[in-house]
Amino acid sequence: MKLFTFPRGGVHPPDHKAPSAHQSIRLLPLPGQVAIAMNQHLGKPAKCLVKKGQDLTVGEKIGEADGFISASVHSSVAGKVSRVDPAMTAVGTWADTVFIDVDNEATAAGYRAFTNQTPADWRQMDSREMIGKIQVAGIVGMGGAAFPTNVKLSPPPDKTIDTILINGAECEPYLTADHQLMLERSADLLAGIGIMQRILGIENTWIGIEANKPDAIAVLEKLITDGNHPGIRVAPLKTRYPQGGEKQLITAVTGRVVPSGKLPFEVGCLVQNTGTAIAIYEAVCLDKPLIDRITTITGFVKQPGNFRIPIGVAFDHAIDSGAGGFIDAGRVRAVINGGPMMGKTVRTIDIGTMKGTSGILVLADTDYNTKPEGPCIRCGRCIDGCPMGLMPTSLALHAEFNKSAGLKDVMDCIECGTCSYVCPTHRQLVHWLRIGKTIFRNADRS
Ligand code: SF4
Ligand code: SF4
Repeated sequence: MKLFTFPRGGVHPPDHKAPSAHQSIRLLPLPGQVAIAMNQHLGKPAKCLVKKGQDLTVGEKIGEADGFISASVHSSVAGKVSRVDPAMTAVGTWADTVFIDVDNEATAAGYRAFTNQTPADWRQMDSREMIGKIQVAGIVGMGGAAFPTNVKLSPPPDKTIDTILINGAECEPYLTADHQLMLERSADLLAGIGIMQRILGIENTWIGIEANKPDAIAVLEKLITDGNHPGIRVAPLKTRYPQGGEKQLITAVTGRVVPSGKLPFEVGCLVQNTGTAIAIYEAVCLDKPLIDRITTITGFVKQPGNFRIPIGVAFDHAIDSGAGGFIDAGRVRAVINGGPMMGKTVRTIDIGTMKGTSGILVLADTDYNTKPEGPCIRCGRCIDGCPMGLMPTSLALHAEFNKSAGLKDVMDCIECGTCSYVCPTHRQLVHWLRIGKTIFRNADRS
């Protein structure tokens, strides 16, 4: 089998996927309250539309998209607004947040109403209607970046997209939600792809899946041969991190290189995550807003698995009620929103999950690197490992000494974490690269 891959850098860390792999998607028991932030996406936060005491139904809009790069936010439960306050989010920012006391019965009935209806036929809809539904539903990229999907599906008039790439790589260690989605929701995934093909007026589509998910490759390869899915092919990918990086996936499958500072449409490509494609199907055919998602809860928990989580359920509730709680609370050192390479440690676990929460990873003392940061020994491993061809050691030093002139290339960093992972002296390279981006942006503006 030919395996596609990107040309330089990358690593193959232990995948730790076994504990949650092939665990059927389970429903999470509802909590007493959810906390839904208005900044669930890249771009401007949504404008909050609700007040304390207001009754809400499942899927009701509670935040209005504010500008071109923004997305609407909807209630993931039925219940009553208990308060609206600024609060810390799972990505470490502060945002207006709607706290909703949950009505269990009405919430369950609300979700049943979405799933029990007959799906509308997207083949009878035109592009404008479908993009409108995706926008109204507040769909954003669910691989982590949370870029508004309607914007991604509307390239500038002078740019032509000729290839759709579905990111089913799930290259982050520990995470298995996308894998399980491809097994359990393959028909909905293909419908989501069909919708995107119709919107863009093209057929050429690749579903990129790492070779460590042979069952997902087999299921989708079988389904696409039925004659109803023109233009769709599966691209088996070498198991290598960060194979699912947008630019790495494009180069691996099409051979095209997205120029520095440019977006995929510059080379005729659109990349969407598997979960996003399914959310697109739900928005267009069921008029369902993005109010829940599939998330892997794994690591130092009693029952790792893949769960359907209403947006805004607190991390601690998800860990306790879904994954059986911590194995030993005294040994927990970090809870991460996402995977170990690109995810961020949450500052507290009583905050709500977000549209981009692909994983909840609990790390114990034995998994967590507490070794002190040492000096650079100029071994060059970070340079060899960088999939973007950057010099992480030198960029980090320029950031550390606040020298914007040496940070020209830092904006090309995709924050994949490979350089930090391979550094033998545990330099916190990604931390400095993020600071370097801020220094460079500020210098650029002045
Ligand atoms: S985090 Fe940035 S600099 Fe480090 S390896 Fe990834 S792309 Fe390269
Ligand atoms: S991997 Fe670490 S020690 Fe080696 S060159 Fe890079 S920063 Fe320096």
